[in-house]
Amino acid sequence: MKIGILGGGQLARMLALAGYPLSLDFVVLEPAADACAAPLSWHIQAAYDDSEGLERLAAECDLVTYEFESVPADAVQQLGASAPVYPPANALATARDRNNEKTLFHELGIETAPFAEVHDIQTLRLAVETIGLPAILKTRTLGYDGKGQQVIHPGDDLPSAWKAIGEVPAILEGLVAFEREVSIIAVRSVSGEMAFYPLAENVHQQGILRLSTCLHDDSHQPLAEDYAKRVLERLDYVGVLAIEFFQVGSHLLANEMAPRVHNSGHWTIEGAETSQFENHLRAILDLPLGSTAPVAYAAMLNIIGEIPDTRKILGMKNAHLHLYGKSPRAGRKIGHITVREATAQALQESLTLLKETDPMSF
Ligand code: AMP
Repeated sequence: MKIGILGGGQLARMLALAGYPLSLDFVVLEPAADACAAPLSWHIQAAYDDSEGLERLAAECDLVTYEFESVPADAVQQLGASAPVYPPANALATARDRNNEKTLFHELGIETAPFAEVHDIQTLRLAVETIGLPAILKTRTLGYDGKGQQVIHPGDDLPSAWKAIGEVPAILEGLVAFEREVSIIAVRSVSGEMAFYPLAENVHQQGILRLSTCLHDDSHQPLAEDYAKRVLERLDYVGVLAIEFFQVGSHLLANEMAPRVHNSGHWTIEGAETSQFENHLRAILDLPLGSTAPVAYAAMLNIIGEIPDTRKILGMKNAHLHLYGKSPRAGRKIGHITVREATAQALQESLTLLKETDPMSF
């Protein structure tokens, strides 16, 4: 069985690593020559909208999935004509546009920060009147890791903020004074079986995820699962879906969703009975889903920009190092470390040790 993946980065690499024990083979379509999934797959080096490349991918594979949400809609349509593509195109169309995503959350009764559409400076002024300041102006599409965002404080110049995000369709969102950021990784198979991982608590640095800690018996788990179930069912979803929330008291405000395996689920490789990568593959192949139960107290620290002293990390008995084979560059995710311990206290102690090995102050 051959799985095609649009995108050949670390998510594709970890999907392949999870798939080989199930006797799956992989073909990635990725424009970069040094794609980090390439050593583990057949690599079609072509642009994501290159119709010849897409044709080759569809011809080679039994089904196709993707590792990022800004996949061109035409590419999905072209692939869909010759091979099943999961998650479904409607999920992609929703997740790639912040306005569509937040509108869906509202339709499903899922709370979000207040938001308004912005098309130009006039609608930005109107949105500021409705939402109030401080607020965040976010591009509707192509924003990730804090890119395409501008915080607006009272007294700030609105035309400058509009210019800063490139004067493209956007939404203005109220700034939430959240207590924590959490995310849920959910999965649904072709035949509708669903499973949910324990919530992860996420800490960001300069808009990029740094630390995800798996929560045990968190009181917000039932609400997060209920919200995720509504989205999975509405979209007739197949595969792994991640939803990020701001937690304020007993409320969860949905911030965004990702129709793919997600960075805040990397802890599941060593920290759960079945990883998010394996469960994504099981879901799209309509195999029974594996248990999402945690096997320990686990947390994942992203390696960003610079490789730390790997001997020190490997010297920690319960640390698991993942390097993606990418060349280091400021702000680039080049690996991660998962720490797994028998108790919450041991996990905190290991994280303290781990942070000392980290070249980025954290
Ligand atoms: P996003 O690209 O929407 O995931 O935003 C990146 C990060 O910016 C989030 O993880 C939050 O830390 C912060 N952020 C985004 N939107 C808001 C908001 N409405 N209120 C407060 N913080 C936000």
